[in-house]
Amino acid sequence: MVDRYESWGRYPRVRQSAVRLHWRSRPLPLTQDRGLTYLPFGNGRSYGDSCLNEGGVLLDARGLNRFIAFDPSTGILRCEAGVLLGDILALVVPHGWFLPIIPGTRFVTVGGAIANDIHGKNHRRIGTFGCHVRRFKLLRSDGQRLTCSPEENPELFGVTIGGLGLTGVILWAEIALKGIISPAMTVETLPFADLEGFFDLSAESEDAFEYTLAWIDCLARGSHLGRGLFIRANHAASPSGEQPKTLQRQFSIPVDLSIGFLNRLSVRIFNSLHYRKYRRSRSPDLVHYEPFFFPLDGIRNWNRLYGSRGFLQYHCVVPHRDGKDAIREILGLTVAVGIESFFGVLKVFGDRPSPGVLSFPRPGITLALDFPHHGAKTFQLLEQLDRIVVSAGGAVYPAKDARMSTTCFKRYFPHWETLERFRDPRFSSSFWRRVTQE
Ligand SMILES: Cc1cc2nc3c(=O)[nH]c(=O)nc-3n(C[C@H](O)[C@H](O)[C@H](O)COP(=O)(O)OP(=O)(O)OC[C@H]3O[C@@H](n4cnc5c(N)ncnc54)[C@H](O)[C@@H]3O)c2cc1C
Repeated sequence: MVDRYESWGRYPRVRQSAVRLHWRSRPLPLTQDRGLTYLPFGNGRSYGDSCLNEGGVLLDARGLNRFIAFDPSTGILRCEAGVLLGDILALVVPHGWFLPIIPGTRFVTVGGAIANDIHGKNHRRIGTFGCHVRRFKLLRSDGQRLTCSPEENPELFGVTIGGLGLTGVILWAEIALKGIISPAMTVETLPFADLEGFFDLSAESEDAFEYTLAWIDCLARGSHLGRGLFIRANHAASPSGEQPKTLQRQFSIPVDLSIGFLNRLSVRIFNSLHYRKYRRSRSPDLVHYEPFFFPLDGIRNWNRLYGSRGFLQYHCVVPHRDGKDAIREILGLTVAVGIESFFGVLKVFGDRPSPGVLSFPRPGITLALDFPHHGAKTFQLLEQLDRIVVSAGGAVYPAKDARMSTTCFKRYFPHWETLERFRDPRFSSSFWRRVTQE
């Protein structure tokens, strides 16, 4: 057993073993021990324990990293499931194509993107990753290789999208890309003074901008509660002679930094400076797509800034009806109990349904908050946040979770038993056991 495999939040730490997959034509390397469970592993960019399997075996799919077919006249791409989204962009952007859905890091595999049915800054417009997957091949523990699409094995298709890696190993997938004219983005960054400001800008930007999100200053309180920067962008409409701003030089955090490095004072200073920087700026910037979509990728291993105890992300969605009040209550509570988040992002989800049975996105407002791991008091706060989200009829994102209760999970995902029915009998995860077993 090794503990070298960890999730992005670096909590929990578990003992598990791992086998690397290299060839999609080979059978799965399973042992005769029927008590041992297996779980595919992408690139460990999930924050909690949905990509971990305590006491079991990870099937590390990063060796399945080949492109199979790409048609630059139609934008249809087929590749193995361990290919990174960043590598897809590097291949297709020069041909005028782009991935329809982009998360906040390019270090996510295609298999991981499907298994968590990830969303981007344009969910309002075009839904989740699963909405753009045409078909994939699934390898089950009994050796069956099943092509899954809306027409072929449609139930397995729906339950594997957002299926947390529990239905088998995705070997390859076919994705419909979207056309672009330029690798540049036109980006506007607008400050807002409070949550009402966010909702106003959101409504104002809905029609004209494909990508929208807001960075929230989670340390602001009182009349500044919920202040932040609203970022809205489109792909540049024509190849411009002007050079877009490119990705800043990458640097790496080589070791765990002490928890003192990221503290209330340092984050308060950063937040104030960051907010002030944009106080007057309204003119659109021409920015290369990399710094726009992947601002944190410039610092490799930034998760080490939180120290060896790791950190927890709380990522929820609340329906529009009571959403404003719920978001205000969540931010207010974190400030009131003195466990403020160091990083917060607010977005709006649209109503395009996903084919994924257990997909997280649903119409409403979505908030992601990063918390340093301070032990019991952090967990108590997150339980209080769950109460707000449950009573607003919302949900918490499994890809980011390391601690939600069984009761909450079943409230958030009432169709969980459908996934349990299709779960490969030899597959399981730390997350799945935690949230389904009373
Ligand atoms: C900085 C940062 C920003 C992020 N931004 C976003 C965002 O904007 N939107 C969003 O939705 N998410 C976001 N995420 C979360 C991330 O996109 C998801 O957790 C994603 O699933 C991670 O993919 P991975 O390849 O690292 O897979 P892992 O985290 O290793 O695994 C994720 C799941 O996929 C399964 N899996 C992996 N490979 C396969 C396979 N071949 N077959 C079957 N199942 C498989 C695993 O079993 C596991 O259940 C972000 C994460 C980080 C670190």
